[in-house]
Amino acid sequence: MVFIVKTKKKHLKKRYKIILFLLLILAIIPQLFPESKTQSEVNAKTSEKSKNELKITETSAFPDNVYGVPVYTELIDEGIARPTTKRLVKYIVLHETDNFINGVGAKNHATYLKNNNESSTSWHYTIDDHEIYHHIPDNEIAHHAGDKEGNTYGIGIELCVNKDGNFNKAFDNGAKLVAYLLEFYDLDITAIKTHHDFTGKDCPNNILKNKRLDEFKNTVNYYLTNKR
Ligand SMILES: [Zn+2]
Repeated sequence: MVFIVKTKKKHLKKRYKIILFLLLILAIIPQLFPESKTQSEVNAKTSEKSKNELKITETSAFPDNVYGVPVYTELIDEGIARPTTKRLVKYIVLHETDNFINGVGAKNHATYLKNNNESSTSWHYTIDDHEIYHHIPDNEIAHHAGDKEGNTYGIGIELCVNKDGNFNKAFDNGAKLVAYLLEFYDLDITAIKTHHDFTGKDCPNNILKNKRLDEFKNTVNYYLTNKR
């Protein structure tokens, strides 16, 4: 009898030991995993980033019209404004020229950029109420977003706000260009960014002040679904 009781006790002790051991392992595992998960997430992000840095968009669009609006290509010469660095296209970055002088439309900005290819500011397209000028190939870096991410991956487009122009027409022409570019580069509506998104600058001023960004995106969607 005594012998049997003793064996039972011993058996129970062994069981407790096993349970304790399992509990210990269970306590350790969660401490190990979040860290390794975070690390692998970091690694994935880093490799995704370097993959993007290595990837480039091979060819640029050179439209001669978008949904009936004429587009004139007047590329500026290589210089600080156009370093000719090839890159991946990920965003379309909206701006306004903030130049209210009468007659200062897309053509004037094209001339300005051509004469100032050593300027530190540059962008890809200027849009007014009746035409669009294309200054730099879309798959090249320009300096418009005030931020590395925006400049490296964004196509900068400027909407004219000259006092004698029709801003609503420029707004509509801008939506036509953006619809064309989203389709060409196989991007979705979330690729539309503002200068404000990158640096907090009040640009595009009219659109932000009058809360018209959703209207702009809806207009882009309209042109995307109602083809030329
Ligand atoms: Zn801007």
